[in-house]
Amino acid sequence: MIYLDNCATTKVYKEAMEAALHAFEVTYANPSSIHKAGFLLRNDFEEARETIKKFLNIKSGEIIFTSCASEANNIIVNSIKDIKKKKILTTAVEHQAMNKPIDNLIANGFEVIKIHPHDGQIILDDVLTKLDDSFGFVSLMHVNNEVGSIIDVENIAREVKKLYPDIIFATDAVQAFGKLRIDLSEGNIDFLSMSGHKVHAPKGIGCLYARDTHLVKPLIYGGEQEFSLRAGTENVPGVLALAEAVKILDKNLENNYKYVNNLKNKMIASLKELDGVNVHSEGEGYSPYVMSVAFDNIKAEVLVHILEQDEVYISTSSACSSKQKKHMRVLEGYGYSEKEAEETVRISFSEMNTEEEVLKAAELIKKAVKFIRSVKK
Ligand code: PLP
Repeated sequence: MIYLDNCATTKVYKEAMEAALHAFEVTYANPSSIHKAGFLLRNDFEEARETIKKFLNIKSGEIIFTSCASEANNIIVNSIKDIKKKKILTTAVEHQAMNKPIDNLIANGFEVIKIHPHDGQIILDDVLTKLDDSFGFVSLMHVNNEVGSIIDVENIAREVKKLYPDIIFATDAVQAFGKLRIDLSEGNIDFLSMSGHKVHAPKGIGCLYARDTHLVKPLIYGGEQEFSLRAGTENVPGVLALAEAVKILDKNLENNYKYVNNLKNKMIASLKELDGVNVHSEGEGYSPYVMSVAFDNIKAEVLVHILEQDEVYISTSSACSSKQKKHMRVLEGYGYSEKEAEETVRISFSEMNTEEEVLKAAELIKKAVKFIRSVKK
């Protein structure tokens, strides 16, 4: 199979798998137990937390382990539901895992302003021209999961905090974590979410970063795990696997970026040999890991299903929303028409893909597009 749906999920690194297996088979105690087996595991567990803190260059605040990024985003939004300034600035292209919890706050008296990207991008000016002293919360995704556009959240957070130090600033960094270097040391970002399964760790593990744990309002109460901010016996295999994945990502991040960028460029060059190809995410300002492309008069869904017969896996838009018609929301947020959105596929890479695979997939995509067009005539 040629797997080019790495924004949906990724193959688990062998090292991460082995770390999880060890925790299933050998060190399977409960890290909250007071006996030696529990105590020793607690040390490993806290070391894993430190690995992630070091990777993000965290100087203040905590990493709180969650089951996924959706949970982390929901905790973020729950944490701001009682703030006094009830105006929120966010983007029109957030993942549903942030968009929906934010929209739910409208019923609590919040006003939500959504920035639409221009030419695929949201820049500092777009944010500052909308903001004023009446806003309490800003949430901007770091890398869009359908188009791949990058928002420079570190710089935007710095400038926002200079003007409005009381604003709470959050970022959904699911598609940026492990792919772009993230540095939280300046302390301008209050909340960040990420997900293990997007970066070669298993499903079922995510993280919430909180600059100040006093800001966090939990969703799950019970035991005192995770600083009493997320009750429930910890997912030790998931956490240890994530830490192993992070060690590998930390070592290879810049090389992976270059490598994957080359894969994306090869795919773009090959697909552009066809007529009627519109690449939505080309050049600087876009993550090399995500490619959004539309083929004139080709329904994305049909293309995805034809390619699956050759075991080439790409996706319509985002896996999380591809079963709903609402998946148009993000592409329409970027200004694409309904027709263009229906013609858009997402091809998403990882450093596990080879150039040979990508070139082969490109040939099969072109063949499928030509076939569909010939049948439609
Ligand atoms: N945020 C973004 C940008 C995503 O791409 C995704 C998943 O696709 C999520 C949040 C949700 O992540 P999880 O599957 O860990 O809940």
